[in-house]
Parts: sequence; C-alpha cells; structure tokens
Amino acid sequence: MTERVLVIGAGMAGLFTALALGGEGRRLDILERDPPAPAGGADEAFADWNRRGVGHLRHSHAFLARLRNLVLDHHPALLDELRAAGCQEMKFADGLPAASKDRYRPEPGDEILTVITSRRTTLELVMRRYVERMPGVTLHSNVNVTGLLGGLDAEGRFVCEGLRVKDGETEREERADIVIDAAGRTSQGFDWLAEHGVTWDEESEDAGILYYTRHWRLLPGQTPPERGPVPGAGDMGFIKYGVFPADNGCFSITLSAPEIEETLRVAIMRPETFDHICRLLPGVAPWIAADRAEPVGKVHGMGDLKSRWRSTVRNGRPIALNLFFAGDGLARTNPLYGRGCSFAAIAAYLLKDVLARETDPAARALAYQGAVDRDIRPYFRDMRTQDRQAIRRARNTLDPAYRPRFKARLMKSFAEDALTPAIRSDPALLRAFMRGFHMLEPSSAWLKRPATLGSVLATWVKPRALKQKYYPPKLGPDRAEMFAALELSATADAERLGLIAA
Ligand SMILES: Cc1cc2nc3c(=O)[nH]c(=O)nc-3n(C[C@H](O)[C@H](O)[C@H](O)COP(=O)(O)OP(=O)(O)OC[C@H]3O[C@@H](n4cnc5c(N)ncnc54)[C@H](O)[C@@H]3O)c2cc1C
Repeated sequence: MTERVLVIGAGMAGLFTALALGGEGRRLDILERDPPAPAGGADEAFADWNRRGVGHLRHSHAFLARLRNLVLDHHPALLDELRAAGCQEMKFADGLPAASKDRYRPEPGDEILTVITSRRTTLELVMRRYVERMPGVTLHSNVNVTGLLGGLDAEGRFVCEGLRVKDGETEREERADIVIDAAGRTSQGFDWLAEHGVTWDEESEDAGILYYTRHWRLLPGQTPPERGPVPGAGDMGFIKYGVFPADNGCFSITLSAPEIEETLRVAIMRPETFDHICRLLPGVAPWIAADRAEPVGKVHGMGDLKSRWRSTVRNGRPIALNLFFAGDGLARTNPLYGRGCSFAAIAAYLLKDVLARETDPAARALAYQGAVDRDIRPYFRDMRTQDRQAIRRARNTLDPAYRPRFKARLMKSFAEDALTPAIRSDPALLRAFMRGFHMLEPSSAWLKRPATLGSVLATWVKPRALKQKYYPPKLGPDRAEMFAALELSATADAERLGLIAA
C-alpha cells in the first residue's frame, strides 16, 4: 500500500522533508498557508513573495556544510540549480585568516566544508520549484492546517490520522498514514496535542539577543571588496556583526545586540544608525561604500529569539503516533549559529532512515526521537550553554562593579590566548574546528584529540610576542567609542538596571 504523508508547512523543514521522503513510492502532500512565489526569478521572490508565515525570511541566512552535503549527496541536481540561480559557495580556504593563508595545503576533505550563501528567498524558491517537480509530491499553497485528526489510544498516546484544513472558505479533513509538523517556530502541533490532554517535556529560554538585517545590492560593474585583515564577521560583545554575500550581486549585513543593551538596540532600527555602525566597522565598511553598493529597503528587526527543545517521548514512551515534528517546531535555536536550516535538513534524513527501518508506529516514534536526541541535541545544548555565557557577559559589561573570578579569567585566557591564536595560526586546527562548527562531528571532538589539544596548549604557553600576529585585529571601536560616535548614552542601561546611580 502506498503511504500517504501530509506535511504542514513549506518552509525549510517542509521542503527538506519532501526532498528526503518524496519520490520513494509515497504520496506526499505539503500544505502551506502562504501564497506561492510570484512569477519570475530570485529578485521578484525577494521583492514580492508574501511569506507572512516566515517572519525571518528576509534576514541573512547562510547554509552550513552539513546541509549542503545532504543536498549534494541526495539531490546533486538541486545544487546545480542553486548555483545556476546565483547562490554562492564559500569554501574552507575562503575563510582562512590572512596570517595563515600561506600555510594552507588543500586536503581532499576540504570540499565538504563549504557553505551556501544566498538570500533565503532565493534558496527557498529554487528548492520549492525542484520539490514541485518530484514524483509523488504535491505542494498546495493557501491551505491553512487548523487541527489534527485522531484520538487517544488505550495507553494515552495520540494516534494521528490526518489533518483538518481550511482551503479558502472550505473546511475539510485530509486522512494520512503519517503527518509531519514542519510549521516552524509558531507551530501549533503541540497545542493541538494539549487539547487531547497530552503533555510533553519542553525546555525553552531566551537566546538573549536581537537580530537586525539590511540588504544591499552592488552597483553595476562593482564587485565585493578584497578580503582585508579585519574579518567580515565578528563578535565585539556589545555587538556582533556579519556580512553575508548572497546571490545576483546582493549581500546583507546583520548586526545583533544583546537584549540588555536596550539603548543600542532601539537605535539600530534606524537605517542611518545601522549604516553608521557599519561604517565604523572596518570589516564591513568597504562593502557599503557609496560608490560600491546601495541599500535595498529598511532594516529588518527580529526579537523573541529562543532556544526551545520539545520531545515527543516522555518517560520512555511516545506521546504521539504517526506524528513527527521537524524544523523549528522540534528545536528552535539562536540564529547566530546559523544551524536552524541544517537542523531541519538533518531531521528530515533521520526520519527517512527511521521510516525505512521501522514499520511499527511506536517503534518509529521512539527511533526518531532517539535519532534527533543523539544527532541534533548535543549541538542544541552547546549553543544554549554559549548563549547563557553571552547573556552573563553582556550584563557584566554594563556592571562597573563586576570583577571576574579566577575561573572566568582562566577561561577567557584559554579562549583568547590559546584557542584563538592556535586556530588562526594553523589551517589544520581550523579545519578540525570547522568540522564541529558544521556539525560533521561533535562540536568539541577536535579538542579531545591529543594532537590538537597539544597544539592548543602549546600556543597557550607560548610568549605573547611569538604569537602576536595570530591575535585577531581590532574589529572596531570599543563600546564607549561606539556609543560616543552614535551620540548614545553608554550608561543609560546600567542606570535603568540599577547597576549605577542615575
Ligand atoms: C533572524 C533569523 C536568522 C536565521 N538565520 C539562519 C541562518 O543563517 N542559517 C540557518 O540555517 N538558519 C537560520 N535561521 C533559522 C532558520 O531560518 C529556521 O530554523 C528555519 O526557517 C526553520 O524551518 P521550518 O520549516 O521549521 O520553519 P519555517 O521556515 O518558518 O517554515 C514554516 C512554514 O510553515 C507554514 N505554516 C505555519 N503554520 C501553518 C499552518 N497552520 N498551516 C499551513 N502552513 C503553516 C508557514 O507559513 C511557513 O511557510 C534563522 C532564524 C532567524 C529567526
């Protein structure tokens, strides 16, 4: 019998689910609330595609190597189509610091450390058109899923039998063997389960930052600036920045500010302040020189950024059968790490393996949760730990009374005097680090190898003068200088928080 699969949402997780499960003798229908892409290509999609369901669609996106490798392994023709549409590929060698470029020797594995960058609308448009041509896959736009069909079994598990949908003014029921909730950060799947009295385990906390993006287009005949000594992405504590080269002469710049830096984050929304900050950052300024590029549209802001993990297995038992969660509905993460779309892609292929291996619904539910717990969750936990540290650092920055303890000083020294110069001086170490960054192996696996740990420790004990050229250059003005240049009060937030007297 042909399995019928219904997918809620045609965002990243919905499209990757179709790539993974489609064309395998299944009937797969994707139900998407938003309208289809407008006629035309990448520029029309960017300018006119109404995607109210994806509030972050016009924020900078980069697609990590793990995602690209899945596309390359399973749908190489799609990768060709992405290239043809103008998507860029940034290779491992493109990211080498100037100080260690001459020590780089290419290795066969380097090509699997390649990132795709493009406007998210471009990637989504090309993926969508590819998926729509897959046998057995149908994408239905303007269809709103309003509930789950099914009920509780004798063990209190929700047995999903399909979906309730609203198509224009018509409401109907769609029966299915499997339902995949790929409805993103605002997915209601768990709320619908709650209506049946189903409970689940969930962890959720603030990512501690806000995100601001502005797009630019290179002027006719212009090219991106040569890579200078100051990188196009960096973390200055009170501000993080990144230039995202994109398709068809476009690029975007993202600034992110800690939630606690209210004065700064309110100001960044003003295009003139956003641009002013960019001009003060040497890694960004050459991109937006008036004779090189022009801005496209407003500054897009995004708050309510959370890390959230939800599990469909509770006390070793599945809470639902024939219902799977993918993408942000399963795990939301801080966009700074650029892993959300890769999570969606990884989960889709984990589900494909589980469905091929298991036929019993309970075994499938347990195996899928087990697979995402093993493969994805460790990265989720790492990112959450880093977010907590960054939130603490942001607060300490505002607190004039803060004095770091010994452990904090030691960790800072390890990061700044060991890890950073080690990675920047030795392409082999950078390669090992990047494998974790791209989720090709556990994030800290590289540091557990005696040889790499030895190199890092050797760098730590080396006198500063001998490793001076491997320290990163100054990324821009310090906090006080930046606030002065922007004519903002550098103490207003500390006063608001009662850290200093008003
Ligand atoms: C500011 C920002 C920047 C980011 N940058 C990156 C990055 O650089 N790299 C990266 O990998 N990740 C990034 N992410 C994360 C990434 O965008 C998400 O993880 C990804 O979009 C998740 O895919 P999804 O399919 O779960 O959700 P979405 O892509 O949001 O798609 C959900 C879809 O479901 C539809 N839908 C919702 N409810 C219904 C319903 N009831 N009926 C029918 N359809 C419905 C919506 O319309 C939407 O199309 C970023 C996130 C943010 C917020």
